[in-house]
Amino acid sequence: AKKNGRYHYRFYRSEMSQAFPNEVLMESHLKRAIEFDELSIHLQPQIDLRTKEIDSFEALIRWNNRKFGYVPPSQFIPLAESSGLIIQIGDWVLEQVCKNLQEWNSKGYRPVRIAVNISPKQFKEEKFALKIEQLLSKYDIEPRYLELEITESSMVNVNETHSILTKLKQLGVFVSVDDFGTGYSSLSYLKKYPIDIIKIDQSFIKDISKDEKNEAIIKAIITLSQNLGMDVVAEGVEEKLQEQFLKQHNCQKGQGYLYNKPLPVDQIIQEYLLK
Ligand code: C2E
Ligand code: CA
Ligand code: CA
Ligand code: CA
Repeated sequence: AKKNGRYHYRFYRSEMSQAFPNEVLMESHLKRAIEFDELSIHLQPQIDLRTKEIDSFEALIRWNNRKFGYVPPSQFIPLAESSGLIIQIGDWVLEQVCKNLQEWNSKGYRPVRIAVNISPKQFKEEKFALKIEQLLSKYDIEPRYLELEITESSMVNVNETHSILTKLKQLGVFVSVDDFGTGYSSLSYLKKYPIDIIKIDQSFIKDISKDEKNEAIIKAIITLSQNLGMDVVAEGVEEKLQEQFLKQHNCQKGQGYLYNKPLPVDQIIQEYLLK
């Protein structure tokens, strides 16, 4: 785990924003980000490509530091992971999302599922499934309105993966594999584990109509998902041409700037839930 942390540390350092002169300072600010109310959630719609209806939202964290301003997740999430702060931050995200779901329900808005990114450190936590169960009951949420996005590395590196995923399945929450195709070449986990949704990494979508090998891979992922009874989402859809390709090959869902960028929750309510 130490080694992994070091790797993240170096990766992160090379991408250091000008805002933060060093990672020690960033970490000390990140530690107090919740307390100072600097974190928020944005939601990005995932669209059913056939009906153009909204299928679900993905929750994406935002950090606006009182001193250094906006810091993108690509900069602070790796630091949160290597420092262990991701547990506290991840719990906060889960709590916010559940609060939103409860509030939408009590106000009579149409219910829409929200997907939450779960880092490997969170997934590995001994009581992770129990935590989810307690959140669902605390906020009185129907499990099918919560989705957990995990990465291939969570499944490959964690011994308890099977029992965790089985517990989550029994609870009735959705589980998706994020950034599919970028991590590990072993597909055996698709056979072993109860997974509901595959999210094709945006690097593949970006090269549609530019690279034939790439298109073959996307087609194969869509077919594979369908044959395994899983839903498939294309991430990072920006152009009409990409959408056409995806629809033509029966990809069910799309997410990306073509439909909307991640928006603050209030705006999401105005644009999607009150209509
Ligand atoms: P991700 O989970 O793969 O999330 C998708 C990223 O793609 C988001 O970046 C989103 O804003 C961006 N995106 C969406 N549509 C498009 C598009 O059409 N084109 C392009 N170029 N990008 C698009 P964001 O919000 O900056 O987040 C980056 C990463 O940070 C996420 O990648 C995820 O790995 C991590 N992250 C964000 N929020 C959380 C969180 O609450 N918990 C954890 N553990 N990780 C998070
Ligand atoms: Ca994600
Ligand atoms: Ca992704
Ligand atoms: Ca990603």
